[in-house]
Amino acid sequence: MSELAATPVTALKGVGAALQEKLARVGLETLQDVLFHLPLRYQDRTRIVPIGALRPGQDAVVEGMVASAEVLMGRRRSLLVRLQDGSGTLSLRFFHFSQAQKDGMARGTLLRCYGEVRPGASGLEIYHPEYRAQDENAPAPVEQTLTPIYPTTEGLTQLRLRQLSAQTLERLGPESLPDWLPPEMAEHYRLGPLADALRYLHRPPPDADLEELAEGRHWAQERLVFEELLTHQLSLQRLRETLRAQRAVPLPAARRLPQLYLDNLGFKPTGAQQRVGREIAHDLAQPEPMLRLVQGDVGAGKTVVAALAALQAIEAGYQVALMAPTEILAEQHFLNFQRWFAALDIEVAWLAGKLKGKARASSLERIAAGAPMVVGTHALFQDEVRFARLALVVIDEQHRFGVQQRLALRQKGVDGRLAPHQLIMTATPIPRTLAMSAYADLDTSVLDELPPGRTPVNTVSVTDSRREEVVERVRAACHEGRQAYWVCTLIEESEELTCQAAETTYEELQLALAELHVGLIHGRMKPAEKAAVMAEFKAGNLQLLVATTVIEVGVDVPNASLMIIENPERLGLAQLHQLRGRVGRGSAVSHCVLLFHPPLSQIGRERLAIMRETNDGFIIAEKDLELRGPGEMLGTRQTGLLQFKVADLMRDAHWLPAVRDAAQELLARWPSHAAPLLERWLRHGQQYGQV
Ligand code: ADP
Ligand code: MG
Repeated sequence: MSELAATPVTALKGVGAALQEKLARVGLETLQDVLFHLPLRYQDRTRIVPIGALRPGQDAVVEGMVASAEVLMGRRRSLLVRLQDGSGTLSLRFFHFSQAQKDGMARGTLLRCYGEVRPGASGLEIYHPEYRAQDENAPAPVEQTLTPIYPTTEGLTQLRLRQLSAQTLERLGPESLPDWLPPEMAEHYRLGPLADALRYLHRPPPDADLEELAEGRHWAQERLVFEELLTHQLSLQRLRETLRAQRAVPLPAARRLPQLYLDNLGFKPTGAQQRVGREIAHDLAQPEPMLRLVQGDVGAGKTVVAALAALQAIEAGYQVALMAPTEILAEQHFLNFQRWFAALDIEVAWLAGKLKGKARASSLERIAAGAPMVVGTHALFQDEVRFARLALVVIDEQHRFGVQQRLALRQKGVDGRLAPHQLIMTATPIPRTLAMSAYADLDTSVLDELPPGRTPVNTVSVTDSRREEVVERVRAACHEGRQAYWVCTLIEESEELTCQAAETTYEELQLALAELHVGLIHGRMKPAEKAAVMAEFKAGNLQLLVATTVIEVGVDVPNASLMIIENPERLGLAQLHQLRGRVGRGSAVSHCVLLFHPPLSQIGRERLAIMRETNDGFIIAEKDLELRGPGEMLGTRQTGLLQFKVADLMRDAHWLPAVRDAAQELLARWPSHAAPLLERWLRHGQQYGQV
């Protein structure tokens, strides 16, 4: 370990137990941590700006003579100080001030102050500037470097953080913090020395390009980004090796059950389903755990593929667990599998958080006794769930699960020794660059063909002032024998309010469309009630279905060709795409009306525009990523896996190919450099590489 990594912050002047505890809250335990705790932004306090040259919005150091200081009694009592420097006049405004403060700014005092300049009632003003009276004959020197502003926590001031980084920078040198990038590699990728980069970022010179720094394009940032991404890549390779060393139950190709299943299915698998099915069947027969991601757009038929994989494990006498991120999605799967597998005489068990008491105990018992097919939510991750012979785990909509949750399931395999095979299904195609970085441990299959008879959905957005027209449109469609959905979106994250809103909408639409049969479905209804309503809609006895986003998944009524989504601006792109996937399943041209409430935010406008422009889940996912950022999308925000210190996967994606090469080269030629790099960057995420 390098010297700075081994030295605790208490080695710095002025750091006692209390401060140590505060520093730990922002992750600063050693001097190396202090060095890698980089400023968020900078202030320029290196020069005094003449008042006449100030611009609104600018942060600036100003120096001038107090011309007047008076207490104003308006709506809010305030102290107004007028400052003059010969080039103009500036007002300083204080809403909180003491008598002593007022006395310290008497007429004729020379003041130096710092703050954000804004336009005010009396010309340019600074609210609550930092200020200090100056001795005219011995003015204090200005700062020699830009002033760093660090991420911090309550009770930890910028001044304190600055003192600590200053002290640590004094100790920084090639001995105390070795540069693990071999000079040859640094030269090849045109990267500067580590110590120079750190010095620069903590104390940039007055002429530094602030714009470049803000955008993360500065060479000093690039140097650290490269090292961090390189280290991330090293950890993924290590993870992969660990996984490769694990054993799994080889499951021989099955014949009887898949044949029976397909005979009963009522349709023929698409070419893509057959191909992906073969890829999975091959993986399952190996003695290493399968780790396969199946990407397929909404409606591509991923469930059939999952069922075929499950039957391979079941025919070999093992257990399968299928997990979905929401109770409703899990329930849909449960009902599907129950229906499909009843004909094959295969027991399907159910487990979700809401299952309590006797029913829960009985489920746990059946799972422990070896129920071949288990469907549920993340409740399946819990410690109390014991499988008898688990050999395959299927996870639907992976991006909503954390990587670590997925890894936790590995420990539930046969005997706790053999890892289960894993099949992960997602409708959110993960852009290649990201998939490579976040999922280096996964093989990927793509379901790139929709079942026959699907038609693209025609999407429009309409403001809610035209609601009546939209209602008429629903009437017309239903009179033509079609069916429609009216979707009410989530209200402030409260399921209860959302369901109430759906009920109100249901009543209104029943009145407005008195001659139609209108149904209602929402998350607070009992499963049996929901199933009954869905059955009625599917049978065509209901023409319009008012729903919350519970119909986001699994619902399949080909005759429904119109969907109204109220307040689509409340939903993310992936969810809108999933919802819209409920129509366009039959031969009629389908329509989706996004009934939005103006004014829309910038992101809201962009989302609706994308929905109008494309039906392609891949493009939608890429845009979603752009608008939301990768952490959220991959469900890894909580796990810390993708929480880089300096890198930003979107911004720095152009480095990824180079970084992959560099990781290989480093392992081949300088293998001893890998461990210290991992130690430096991944101290808190180390368990990730060791699963
Ligand atoms: P997703 O990939 O979105 O999970 P599903 O597995 O729910 O899609 O399938 C969507 C619908 O398409 C289901 O009703 C399913 O029965 C149907 N389906 C799946 N595969 C085919 C196929 N090969 N031919 C016709 N319909 C299919
Ligand atoms: Mg699905």
